[in-house]
Amino acid sequence: MRKLFTRKQTQTKTTSGPARGSLFRSLKVRIFALILLFGMVPALILSESLLGYYRDRVIAVRTSEAQTQLRVLANHLITYGYLDNPDNDIVSAELSQYSSFYDGRVLVINDALQVVDDTYNVSRGKTIVSGDVVKCLRQGSAASTSHYDEKDGYIEIVIPIAETASLEGQDTTGNAAKDGETIYGVLLSSVSTASIEAMHDALGQREMILALILLLVIIFLAVVFSYLLVKPFDRLTRKISDVREGYSSDPIEENAYTETAHIMTAFNQVLGRMRALDDSRQDFVSNVSHELKTPMTSMKVLADSLLSDPNTPPEMYREFLTDIDSELDRENKMIAELLNLAKMDRKQVTMNISTVDIGSLLEIVMKRVRPLAQKRDIELTLVQERDVSAEVDEVKMTMVFTNLIENAVKYNKDHGKVTVALNADHKNFTVTVEDTGVGIPEDSVARVFERFYRVDKSRSREVGGTGLGLSIVKSAVLLHKGSITVDSVYGEGTRFTVVIPLIYIQTKDATTAKALVVKREEGGSDEKN
Ligand code: ADP
Repeated sequence: MRKLFTRKQTQTKTTSGPARGSLFRSLKVRIFALILLFGMVPALILSESLLGYYRDRVIAVRTSEAQTQLRVLANHLITYGYLDNPDNDIVSAELSQYSSFYDGRVLVINDALQVVDDTYNVSRGKTIVSGDVVKCLRQGSAASTSHYDEKDGYIEIVIPIAETASLEGQDTTGNAAKDGETIYGVLLSSVSTASIEAMHDALGQREMILALILLLVIIFLAVVFSYLLVKPFDRLTRKISDVREGYSSDPIEENAYTETAHIMTAFNQVLGRMRALDDSRQDFVSNVSHELKTPMTSMKVLADSLLSDPNTPPEMYREFLTDIDSELDRENKMIAELLNLAKMDRKQVTMNISTVDIGSLLEIVMKRVRPLAQKRDIELTLVQERDVSAEVDEVKMTMVFTNLIENAVKYNKDHGKVTVALNADHKNFTVTVEDTGVGIPEDSVARVFERFYRVDKSRSREVGGTGLGLSIVKSAVLLHKGSITVDSVYGEGTRFTVVIPLIYIQTKDATTAKALVVKREEGGSDEKN
């Protein structure tokens, strides 16, 4: 186990760790940035818009107040006939009071567009030809205007000096507007907004200070939250590291979030698989060593006994050397089978696919096994329901059938029977190898495909078995994307069923695609996949 993890560790070291210059890929940094963004941006937008709204409101109120005051002034101007006699002290005082209150200027203009009074005493007697003034003089209250000049900081208001006539056309001296207004002149006023701007700036400064404080608070919260939110992931990394370093081998848990729990479940599953793989690898290595050592031990015993006695008769030499020879054969067979298995275990195994007549293949295999069967008077029969041609690797398929039929003979009773049957549907062909042999105990049926598994070791050894045959069969069948099953009644017999697709389906990950040659006889030409 440790070895596995040590190797993993070196692999991980080369691939793990965030890529350089990718600070923003850190979850902590992202959470920090998001909190900062969602905390600061709305706060700034809100305060800016509130500030703007406040200024607009104050200006609107100031405009409306000034307009009301101007209307009162206009009434007084009419009442005191100020346009004809601008020396009225009361009205003059009211005008200058208005002017100082609003920090502005008022021009009293008569219907001849002449300035009757100017609180700045600059334009008195001059003629005003402003469009707004002319329009207001013509249209009366309907053409009252107010403009806010943000750049220069003042509000300009134009209102008529008018009275609503009680009788239509009563005053012939004034301009009669359509709605019955008699217009005597116009009041043009500018109201300074400097105090409003000053207030706005002061508030802006205060807002800046508040924004700074808010920024600091949000940064603090962002740091705390990004640390707290990512903490379970840090814990998870630490736990995984502990497993990697080999400090812990128990399944690990991190249930702070559903996501971390999912990651842990997946990790534990992978860990379980790795451990199972590691265990089976270890089992396999110890089995291989053990199995390879057994013939060695007997050869050593045989050789030692020959060496220890200088007077060993030549017949004894012959007998012992024959035994050593058969042990060497066994060892050779085992090594050859192990190599075979190792080859098939490799992901990039080469499949030499060609269209093969399966019936003929079975006949050839049975012909080879027949002498072995005849020795023990075992009847070997092939039942072929139909002609079957399939895309298979001929060598591997021969290995599959040879192993199964040989086993059916090896583990049979004398005078027994072996029936091989071949059938097919539109997709797959099926070969069953049925015998009337010793059978397999129920608890061993599931294990016969394991490497080195033998139900009866001494019997297997007697018949030259290695315990690898069925593992090879299974690997070869799986390489053809087929399946193999076994049914057995202990003491009565066994049936192996192999199902293989008629057309070989190449998987995407078969990196040996170039080496794979599929010969389709129907087309008459070789096709390279
Ligand atoms: P071996 O080299 O021992 O035959 P295999 O992998 O071919 O190894 O088979 C594994 C074990 O399965 C055998 O040792 C035997 O106990 C059992 N077995 C295989 N085929 C049969 C069969 N047809 N009838 C009974 N037992 C069988």
